[in-house]
Amino acid sequence: MVTPSRITLARKRRGMTLADLSKDAKVSLQSLSNYETGRTVPRRATMGRIAKALSYPEVFFEGPDLDELPADGISWRARSKTSARTLDAARAAGTIGAVLYDWIDRRFRLPAADIPSFTKPDPETVAGMVRTRWDLGAAPAPNMVHLLEAHGVRVFSLSPDYAEVDAFAVWRNGTPFVFLNTMKSAERGRFDAAHELGHLVMHGSDRECSGPEAERQANDFASAFLMPAAGVLGHMPRGAHVDQIIKGRTIWKVSAMALTYRMHDLGLLTDWQYRSACTELSKRGYRTGEPQGMKKRETSQILTKVFQALWANGTRPSAVAAELGLTVEEMNKMLFGLTAAIADGGDKHGKGDAQRRTLSLVP
Ligand SMILES: [Zn+2]
Repeated sequence: MVTPSRITLARKRRGMTLADLSKDAKVSLQSLSNYETGRTVPRRATMGRIAKALSYPEVFFEGPDLDELPADGISWRARSKTSARTLDAARAAGTIGAVLYDWIDRRFRLPAADIPSFTKPDPETVAGMVRTRWDLGAAPAPNMVHLLEAHGVRVFSLSPDYAEVDAFAVWRNGTPFVFLNTMKSAERGRFDAAHELGHLVMHGSDRECSGPEAERQANDFASAFLMPAAGVLGHMPRGAHVDQIIKGRTIWKVSAMALTYRMHDLGLLTDWQYRSACTELSKRGYRTGEPQGMKKRETSQILTKVFQALWANGTRPSAVAAELGLTVEEMNKMLFGLTAAIADGGDKHGKGDAQRRTLSLVP
């Protein structure tokens, strides 16, 4: 049995066109198209060549239809710079990531989604409301990945194959997902997580979520959420020098550029001071990176605990991957930068765990 939609999904995941796959798998374009629409079923040997060309185990193509992430529910940043094929590939990777979460969800009790929805007020006010609801007061935001997870967001890594794609958020059947680009600095990772939270809170599943206006709102939300006005006004001097900004960024664990922007927004830097601070920071390498920044990226608490619990129970990561029809390499890419690599090299199948366990999470 072959599920046609899985061929299409795997092909998109690899960023291949029908013509690319036809060539690599030595299958005619017409036949391939028929397999993907379900008009005809490939013979075993043919399916073997297709699976090989796509680097997916054959068993992957035998699973049920997968619930694709909705294309119009995703807020891509810098859409114009990235090809539609790359975005499709990132979305396909996300669809497969969500399947891993479904698997986890059946075995562990994960936090329920607690993402408030606001349509009307401005991003600054919304950020304050989410902070109040989550009991954060005006303190610097804690680990953003842990925070999102504790409120029911499923956080995954955008595969390192798509370094040029920014983070994205999407609702799937009432569950919020965030895919982070873990190739950036830890500070930018925090900003991305807050930016995606902004989309989830302000743009939701059935509202306009893309375009420059939505991006501006999500950025303003992230800025206000990570750097509450009261804290910044209380700690940062008016007209601060670049050295003071570089020192100050450690309070909120944000990039020096993000703090500079926020200070200008709050009137602590004049237009002129803002522009010269940006120029100076660029010269010192703060536009492309974060010199002497956070030592470690923020990682996932859920994914780490799940794989530790599975391991303790004798279930190897390779067994999880095999059950999902994935290679361990493919699974590792979903977890890349969010948890230690989980490759185990073995193929011993572990015992299933009939009872769902509750993970104790510390936000
Ligand atoms: Zn965005």
